[in-house]
Amino acid sequence: MAAGCELRRETCSAFARKSISVQHNKIYPNKSVVNYAPFTLLPSAVPSVLFEQAYAVQQDFNLLVDAISQNKEFLEDTLASTVKVDDFTAQLFRIHVQVLEEGLAQSVFLGINRSDYMFDCGVDGTPALKQIEINTIAASFGGLTSRTAAVHGQVLKMLGKSKEASRLLPNNPSKGLALGIAKAWELYGSQSAVVMFLVEEVQRNIFDQRCVENELWNRNIRVIRKRFRDVFEKGSLDDAKRLYMDGQEVAVVYYREGYVPKNYDQQNWEARLLLERSRAVKCPDIATQLAGTKKVQQELSRPGTLERLLPGRAEAVTRIRATFAGLYSLDVGEEGDKIAAMAIADPDQFVLKPQREGGGNNLYGEELRQVLEKIRDSPERTSYILMDKIKPQPTINYLLRAHSPLQVSECISELGIFGVYVRQGKEMVMNKAAGHLLRTKAIEHADGGVAAGVAGLDTPYLV
Ligand code: ADP
Ligand code: MG
Repeated sequence: MAAGCELRRETCSAFARKSISVQHNKIYPNKSVVNYAPFTLLPSAVPSVLFEQAYAVQQDFNLLVDAISQNKEFLEDTLASTVKVDDFTAQLFRIHVQVLEEGLAQSVFLGINRSDYMFDCGVDGTPALKQIEINTIAASFGGLTSRTAAVHGQVLKMLGKSKEASRLLPNNPSKGLALGIAKAWELYGSQSAVVMFLVEEVQRNIFDQRCVENELWNRNIRVIRKRFRDVFEKGSLDDAKRLYMDGQEVAVVYYREGYVPKNYDQQNWEARLLLERSRAVKCPDIATQLAGTKKVQQELSRPGTLERLLPGRAEAVTRIRATFAGLYSLDVGEEGDKIAAMAIADPDQFVLKPQREGGGNNLYGEELRQVLEKIRDSPERTSYILMDKIKPQPTINYLLRAHSPLQVSECISELGIFGVYVRQGKEMVMNKAAGHLLRTKAIEHADGGVAAGVAGLDTPYLV
């Protein structure tokens, strides 16, 4: 435990939090408070077979997301019921349609995603890899997680476990992410153009982003950090739809913002539209963001859908499907009625998910039942999907979080694999798995990740 306290001081990977306190203003003139990011004291056991399976399917998921983003009809059909009841998805979809009608100016496409999994404990106790979701916009913690293996290696050494420490895998997603951004920048083809990180109004995770940014500076690629508000005020397109910020041409826009309704007011929507209409490489473009919605995830599990999206790739389809948990549509009609009744009868077997990102939005157990009972006869239910609840085997760990007492908890983990791909026109020029992220939280929190203040950064110890 002493080791944990020292590491708390020494872990320089950190969260930044804007403070509203006047007192803080005096101490920190830029109004920022820096905390270390939450982490576990010990690495967590991860079955090596499932870890390898998650890596092996990542290139398939990259291809799938990219295929969905180019399939106008599929996105239209799949999201038709959702856009009627979910304003946020509807607004994204309107921009998507407008940009397609104008004709895409963008010809280089960059995808950075993170496919998240839990290890479901079956009836016989054998764990299985089950996908929670795939994040196609602002997939974070690739930077901070590059540091956790060193932290956990040191803890193990302090505990006299040097042999175990040497078995922890090196992991550097920020480098892989930066290589993708650098490739897209290169293909854009203007030496003087910059990469723009589109960042939050209140920057809570700047150090994670800086890891990726520094990798780009090391490759002599200039990076600027801007908010939607800056784009609204200072962004412009020329006749060829080249994007300029403050007179600087932008080759790549890397979104670390823009995935939840509260990121947008009218001006920010206008800024988003400007960016999407531009020739700059957007990571992701709006179609790829839509490909990451929960509704799309649910439709992918219908028999025949993967085959239709990935023709001639039967093995990829098998690998992808093996990671799917049960997913169910709540669309209006007989199928949706049956699903709603099934969930109301046995709510602990399911998770009810709205079209939201960022953690803390899903419904479980009694709350799921109450909400679903209230909306079962209303079209509002189509803004949700239903998913089988994944039940991992809990383990014991210590969670370290700023301003919280050190706690021993029964924990469950979620493994994420980062995917990076670059497409030029029709040709895939890069398709990689770029590293992993393990997040661990106490079992009493059904929902939420690191940013939501629930989970801690962890390192897999393969068993
Ligand atoms: P978000 O986009 O908000 O991150 P997720 O689908 O990742 O939405 O769900 C948030 C969290 O809820 C996950 O990190 C996980 O802890 C939990 N969760 C989501 N789906 C399931 C599921 N099917 N079974 C068990 N837990 C789940
Ligand atoms: Mg998630």
